[in-house]
Amino acid sequence: MAYKTVNPYNNELVKSYPDATTKEIENALSTGHALYKQWRDEPIAGRAKTLHKIADLLRENEDELAKIATIDMGKLLTESKGEVELCAIIADYYADNGADLLKPTPISTMATGAAEVLHQSTGVLMMVEPWNFPYYQIMRVFAPNFIVGNPMILKHASNTPGSAAAFEKIVKDAGAPDGSLTNLFASYDQVSDIIADPRVQGVALTGSKRGGQSVASVAGQNLKKNSMELGGSDAFVVLSDADLDTAVDLAWRVRIYNNGQVCTSNKRFIVADNLYDEFLAKLKDAFAKLKPGDPMDPSTSYAPMNSERAKKKLQGQIDKAIEGGAKVAFGNTPVDLPGQFIQPTILTDISKDNPEFYDELFGPVAQVFKVGSDQEAIDLANDSELGLGGIVLSSDPAHGKAVAAKIETGMVFVNSFLVSLPELPFGGVKGSGYGREMSQLGLNAFVNDKLVVTS
Ligand code: NAP
Repeated sequence: MAYKTVNPYNNELVKSYPDATTKEIENALSTGHALYKQWRDEPIAGRAKTLHKIADLLRENEDELAKIATIDMGKLLTESKGEVELCAIIADYYADNGADLLKPTPISTMATGAAEVLHQSTGVLMMVEPWNFPYYQIMRVFAPNFIVGNPMILKHASNTPGSAAAFEKIVKDAGAPDGSLTNLFASYDQVSDIIADPRVQGVALTGSKRGGQSVASVAGQNLKKNSMELGGSDAFVVLSDADLDTAVDLAWRVRIYNNGQVCTSNKRFIVADNLYDEFLAKLKDAFAKLKPGDPMDPSTSYAPMNSERAKKKLQGQIDKAIEGGAKVAFGNTPVDLPGQFIQPTILTDISKDNPEFYDELFGPVAQVFKVGSDQEAIDLANDSELGLGGIVLSSDPAHGKAVAAKIETGMVFVNSFLVSLPELPFGGVKGSGYGREMSQLGLNAFVNDKLVVTS
């Protein structure tokens, strides 16, 4: 039984789940495929109604769902509640706007007749999702594709099976037909077999480079369309004209939110030399105020890592960075609690030859760099194999925007948090993957854009 909930706050094994059987897999494929054919002939309005119902049930069950996520992977309960609300917002958005976004697109053409592109469903999708936002990661793919009419099979992370089962139940309770979303506690081999099945038309994965490479290669071998949402080592660029207090306030929040386990959580803080010393001092003060504790307790300010494996990996990376010459400006002392805690830590003096310079530190560790010019900041921000998001701070929005335009990532926000909303495209470039989720772009990821010319 590979899928289990182990509460990372107290290391208690809460529940193990049986592995998916061959029969369950065949059932998911056949009901999904039958539903694809049924949905092709049904108007979007019916699915929109069900999607609104899903949003309602998410809100009605917010407390219970939030507890399940927090026990699965340890995040603060308040953050779990926010995640459930965001899922409801996404569901409502596609229920309200799906039909309009999927309207045929007319094309002015030299050909005889009227040309238009229809945006139609393609079939069953395989979705492979990570534990860090155990509901939102599903919803980013689920809501747009439910509206399109693509049934989905879910393979969630092996440490968040409680959240996977709870999401599937909400979909069922809302009255969605069998096959709309089938959660399977599947092995990697079973996922490969599902991708290879002719009834499956696409794969969406959010996760690590290694997971992405493996799943994308199976998709490639089988010529299945796929989107890859992978890691990030986003820059947080503080330009010389930035307001220091705003920068620090944003910096500690983005690094600590979800205990730093966010693909778009800024991991590299690139600060203009005129602000560097004060920024570092104030960031240390902000980190020093944070208190570890029970994620269910609203007074706790930072949570455990999601698993023992994740804690070991991050601690190993911190140790390697220090061996490679990095200095600890704050933190890196053991937390006297039984759970998988890592104290929020600030590292400086990370040179390009440090073994961790190019690594994604997926937890509450801030790497802080000093730069002498905008160009140096841009070059350092772009000196990464990853290209997901980023934040630029400047008291002059035009200056911030000019620098943002030169950063090689899929998303950059000037003077604010990087937020994920249903109308905004989410995704990266370089090693952060390809394709976009949500927005018109994400909605079209797995549609058949079919040309029809009528003479
Ligand atoms: P991971 O190991 O790749 O796991 C993600 C999902 O992929 C899990 O369900 C995992 O299953 C599955 N998986 C991995 N290898 C597989 C294979 N060969 N075949 C089938 N399924 C496979 O990722 P992680 O390390 O837990 O997650 C953190 C990473 O995800 C970070 O790099 C983070 O930046 C990235 N991330 C990206 C985004 C984005 O939107 N771009 C969002 C969140 C996280 P098991 O759990 O069973 O191994």
